[in-house]
Amino acid sequence: MTIHATLIPGDGIGPEVTDATVRLIAASGADITWDRQLAGMAAVAAHNDPMPDQTIASIKRTKLALKGPLETPSGKGFRSINVALRKEFDLYANVRPAKTVLPNLRFKDVDIILVRENTEGLYIGIENYIKIGTDERAAAQSIAVVTRYGAERIHRYAFDLAVRLGRKKVTLVHKANILKYSQGLFLDVGREIAKEYTGKVAVEERIVDACAMELVSKPERYDVIVTTNLFGDILSDLTSGLVGGLGLTPGANIGKDAAIFEAVHGTAPDIAGKGIANPTAVMLAACQMLDHAGQGALATRIQNAIETVLREQKAITGDVGGTASTAQFTDAVIAHL
Ligand code: NAD
Repeated sequence: MTIHATLIPGDGIGPEVTDATVRLIAASGADITWDRQLAGMAAVAAHNDPMPDQTIASIKRTKLALKGPLETPSGKGFRSINVALRKEFDLYANVRPAKTVLPNLRFKDVDIILVRENTEGLYIGIENYIKIGTDERAAAQSIAVVTRYGAERIHRYAFDLAVRLGRKKVTLVHKANILKYSQGLFLDVGREIAKEYTGKVAVEERIVDACAMELVSKPERYDVIVTTNLFGDILSDLTSGLVGGLGLTPGANIGKDAAIFEAVHGTAPDIAGKGIANPTAVMLAACQMLDHAGQGALATRIQNAIETVLREQKAITGDVGGTASTAQFTDAVIAHL
């Protein structure tokens, strides 16, 4: 069955790395039709809106999008792109895999999938200043909101993912010892959901600070991690660092009505237009998208080809120690399909 997906090339290196990805996906024989749409500065230039309605409408239609990095224009009057997308499509699960592929890294066997709650917690946006006397900003508060509904669906997503991928263990990462209400509810709900998976996947709990320490001392012991928004934001950059940096790490944003896949890195303005960007992260994001669309075997085949080229180190880009161009790397991956 033909997969219909929205393609947002993005800004900076976005068009280079997404073009390379589209070429790879076509070479893999995937039956996919891309609906190209604009967002970011490219959309501001064309429509004076970084997230035009037709781009949103396309994702509503296809329910799938591959997104290059976007430059959010500064200044008032522009919608925040990520907030607009997260709100519009209720993209509650942020899924970031981090796996050792490159040789010569400090850790040899990292293979972690971090599942971050993407809509609640401290990032829900309930913030204000408190005036004391004449000082309008004498204090500030940011309120963390955890709902049973939000906690249930993110834990269930993490456990289902672990079972589907044959993973051995899910670690519930929290700070319930101090934040007894919000983190306490998150952990309690996690424990309840975990019971539904008894015998299918192991479960353990870690306080976030202990988890951070272990991630940089013995990351190999982690498998699937599920945690709240702020902790997930921080720990997922940490896990990216363990395996060679943001240029290699994809991220999926999953909602019940749509899913958006992207690289974790930004627009890399310093190398944009030079044809030397590493397209790995967007290529792996496309693999996540194919897997999500039910093409798991094809996704694995493409991912294996990418990993082979990275492991061989003959045609890798400058950011990971090579001299290949984006096109040369892409050619090498296609040759290994
Ligand atoms: P960045 O990730 O764009 O760049 C950081 C460094 O990593 C740069 O030296 C860059 O050359 C390098 N780099 C990044 N991706 C690379 C790749 N694929 N291949 C080779 N080198 C790569 O981060 P930044 O400079 O902080 O941000 C630049 C812009 O990107 C900002 O406007 C920011 O808002 C935006 N941004 C967008 C997203 C997104 O759309 N998801 C994410 C992060 C940043």
